[in-house]
Amino acid sequence: MTAGELLAASGLPGAEARALLAFASGATREALIAFPERVVAPEAAARFEALVERRRAGEPMAYLLGVQEFYRRPFCVTPAVLIPRPETELLVELALDALRSIESPRVLELGTGSGCIAISLALERPDARVVAADASVEALAIARANAQRLDARVDFVASDWYAAIAGEFDAIVANPPYVAASDPHLADLRFEPLYALTDHGDGLGCLRTIVAGAPAHLARDGWLLVEHGYDQAAAVRALFERAGFDEVRTVRDAAGIERACTGRFV
Ligand code: GLN
Repeated sequence: MTAGELLAASGLPGAEARALLAFASGATREALIAFPERVVAPEAAARFEALVERRRAGEPMAYLLGVQEFYRRPFCVTPAVLIPRPETELLVELALDALRSIESPRVLELGTGSGCIAISLALERPDARVVAADASVEALAIARANAQRLDARVDFVASDWYAAIAGEFDAIVANPPYVAASDPHLADLRFEPLYALTDHGDGLGCLRTIVAGAPAHLARDGWLLVEHGYDQAAAVRALFERAGFDEVRTVRDAAGIERACTGRFV
């Protein structure tokens, strides 16, 4: 079959179909647009059709292609890690802002997953000392590979939140699982690791642990920056305030949704 025939038969939106056919055949997306009459080799066509089937069953493009862009860089992903979200780039921006006036800042990321936050921070601030933790050994392997591929200097630690963390940091950053167990939205996320999405409770369980443990691991004037769910802003601010944080602030993402909380431990 020709590229054009395969793309049309897939029933997928054009851009998705082209991305999958490019991946399956080795052709560029531009070539697929310019030369739809080109015949696709049978093995590549079969690979493409298998990918189309998975896509039609709802599997995210990032898992099919094995890659997701975050903060302008490509990150490898597998179903062992959450797919980086564009709204999480806000957390990187906020951390970079917070660290602007600190030389060689020490940064801790909890629950690093693909490593996208820690690696972005390390690459944007080459003078930083970045430690990134995850309880999942599988996730850590992916994060380490991403750091190596992108040439980022990050120390990865297997740790259940703070359990294996030593030392003092100028900033602690986390995008923890915050989706409530009762949230129907979880069904749409069924291809992603459940442990990265939900605390199996009210959605605030991991945030409570992270906020409560932060003061013991922060240097004076250190920052805590977390991502949270669309309806958790007031609850998370209250957690920060109860833990003794100052300058507690909710920040909206590009879609206008209350998405992050930051505070300073004075
Ligand atoms: N932002 C993700 C979603 O709802 C959830 C990520 C998380 O729990 N940290 O799609």
